[in-house]
Amino acid sequence: SAATATPTIKQVKLERESELRIEVANDTPLRLRLLNGTAEIFGTELPPEMWLTFPPRLKFAVFTWYGATIEMEGTTETDYTADETPMVSYVNVHAVLEGRRNRAKASSSSGSETSQGPRVIVVGPTDSGKSTLSRMLLSWAAKQGWKPTYVDLDIGQGSITIPGCIAATPIELPIDPVEGISLEMPLVYFYGHTTPSQNVDLYKALVKELAQILERQFTGNAESRAAGMVINTMGWIEGVGYELILHAIDTFNANVVLVLGQEKLFSMLRDVLRNKPNVDVVKLQKSGGVVSRSSKVRQKARSYRIREYFYGIANDLSPHSNIANFSDLFVYRIGGGPQAPRSALPIGADPVANPLRVTAVNIDRDLLHVVLAVSYAQEPDQIVSSNIAGLIYITDIDLQRLGEKSLTLHQQLGSSEQVFDHGNLNMAGNMKHIQEQVFK
Ligand code: ATP
Repeated sequence: SAATATPTIKQVKLERESELRIEVANDTPLRLRLLNGTAEIFGTELPPEMWLTFPPRLKFAVFTWYGATIEMEGTTETDYTADETPMVSYVNVHAVLEGRRNRAKASSSSGSETSQGPRVIVVGPTDSGKSTLSRMLLSWAAKQGWKPTYVDLDIGQGSITIPGCIAATPIELPIDPVEGISLEMPLVYFYGHTTPSQNVDLYKALVKELAQILERQFTGNAESRAAGMVINTMGWIEGVGYELILHAIDTFNANVVLVLGQEKLFSMLRDVLRNKPNVDVVKLQKSGGVVSRSSKVRQKARSYRIREYFYGIANDLSPHSNIANFSDLFVYRIGGGPQAPRSALPIGADPVANPLRVTAVNIDRDLLHVVLAVSYAQEPDQIVSSNIAGLIYITDIDLQRLGEKSLTLHQQLGSSEQVFDHGNLNMAGNMKHIQEQVFK
């Protein structure tokens, strides 16, 4: 796996139901194409003979149902073939979901419970392949013409926008193996931390908001209602993490719970959901191909993800830079911020701050290298319940310029709205430490 001076082309012949697992080198991309046969990457079929370029560090598998020959050019960290995969069990799940979508569609005029397609939630420990399974189920459904909704509740490694957000988006086409999920019209809520324990109440409140909006959208759209949703969750499954899984199942009215790679979690959920006959709890095997990531690697992955959001996977986006006067922007923080110790408070005072309190933040040097979300809220008290138009990153703060103190910001918005159409900036948490790594 060491880097060679001249890139060589390597051919790999894959037998039916086997996969080629690849970790792209750390600093050079990899080119790959399907020479013959048929193959897919996490549920999306490869076009025949077309070279695709995979960015450094990407980890993926090329799977074939009936046999294929793959060509690779460039270096990899690892590449090997595996003929033991859980893919048959995964595609069987897809087939069951497909049946339910068809039934929902057939009864869509009746408007009853039966017109609701599957609401699948994927749970399991970190590195069990939750995001990957979600992706396959979505891509297989999209290939058959459905437009399922993808909901990503994973604030640690979010795949729709950036870490710190929860989001949902309709999947209209199989997910691109290189570009990932298309960012056209995501519905995004900003939490601002990468772990829910920072503010559990806020996390739950945002999950609830997201679920309510989707529920409303489903009511008016029989097609997406029948297609249903796939909900990806965090890998935190103990204690509060477990409670948040139950909260998500409940809030989204999930009717299929897929548990990846953990017997204990499966039996706990099966027992607790026993009294809900319309909820199926299904145990699935974890793929041996899932790559484990240390906390350091996860932190790096978060940084790259934020960079990708602003600059594109292949550095093909250029964020707008803008200078704004302090007086044009309103920055708010959700949650109490650092709490005063009990000893510093008057006797009898409660040190627990309101977790959903919105407070104005002074613009000063502390905002440098911070990611802020641009809220659709018209008033500060609407911030918690409002989704966001996009995210900005503050690259400079000028306190010297008399009269016109200004901030320089990088912005990249999901849609074409401008920051200044929506004056309220939402600084739920503090994503600064991540940012400094990314942009320095
Ligand atoms: P987290 O809880 O941290 O979000 P996860 O359970 O969602 O993790 P994934 O993100 O699906 O796990 O998988 C972890 C990594 O392993 C990803 O980089 C993914 O692309 C890779 N991976 C998954 N399945 C395979 C496979 N069969 N072959 C090669 N790489 C794989």
